[in-house]
Amino acid sequence: MRIDVITIFPEYLEPLNVSLVGKARARGQLDVRVHNLRDWTHDRHNTVDDSPFGGGPGMVMKPEPWGEALDAVTAEAEEGERRPVLVVPTPSGLPFTQELAVELSERPWLVFTPARYEGIDRRVIEEYGDRFDVREVSIGDYVLAGGEAPVLVIVEAVARLLPGVLGNAESHRDDSFAPGAMADLLEGPVYTKPPVWREREVPEVLLSGHHGKVARFRRDEAFRRTTANRPDLIERCDPAALDKADRALLAELGWEELPDGRFGRSASAVEE
Ligand code: SAM
Repeated sequence: MRIDVITIFPEYLEPLNVSLVGKARARGQLDVRVHNLRDWTHDRHNTVDDSPFGGGPGMVMKPEPWGEALDAVTAEAEEGERRPVLVVPTPSGLPFTQELAVELSERPWLVFTPARYEGIDRRVIEEYGDRFDVREVSIGDYVLAGGEAPVLVIVEAVARLLPGVLGNAESHRDDSFAPGAMADLLEGPVYTKPPVWREREVPEVLLSGHHGKVARFRRDEAFRRTTANRPDLIERCDPAALDKADRALLAELGWEELPDGRFGRSASAVEE
């Protein structure tokens, strides 16, 4: 996969040389190119921002440097397979999810445009939206000073899904949000050696070697954690994905089965 990042702070992307992403680069699985937006400015001060039309606080990133940079970076783009996806980090974008990470991991080329100030002149997004797939993506309901940290987040989530990047291809199968049997559930707690640490014991079932019991324990723990931290995921849970033991556990945790088979919090659980 090829990844281009255009930024006014190339040094902010240094972590892309480290750990999993760094190793994937070294192995040639990821071709990451970081570009300085100011290379496409032509004035003495390398200006990339100006005051907003219509007034108001803050500055807006000018369209000309972005246009020149994106034209240069995407010059090799072709119709079909060799067309990049333009990933635009913005708090007003669609929420970044594991589903989107999977979708992006299947594309051969991603171009990121992390902004600063109040963001990029809207016409840039419109211009390239006519040529490429554009994804405006938010990494959460908060506002950062720039899009570089979101790029690091998105690249790491995508890179670990690429074939051969994780040592054990099974590692992301049971992750929270992973598609499959545990979809829509958060992963439960995990343990390693020693079996007793500061008088705290690892749950006995995990030492039993009984695969069925271990799977049930993990699923129960996933339900406990999801009901506590992300009740919205339980409310959206596909009833067909719930077995008898799931339903019994949810009832025990104060959830009520609704007429359509989904689960909702019982009035007493909501009050708590
Ligand atoms: N005025 C903008 C708004 O309220 O939507 C915020 C601009 S923010 C100060 C500057 C840049 O940081 C954004 O253009 C975007 O690139 C990045 N950014 C900040 N928060 C983000 C988030 N939650 N997700 C993705 N990108 C974010």
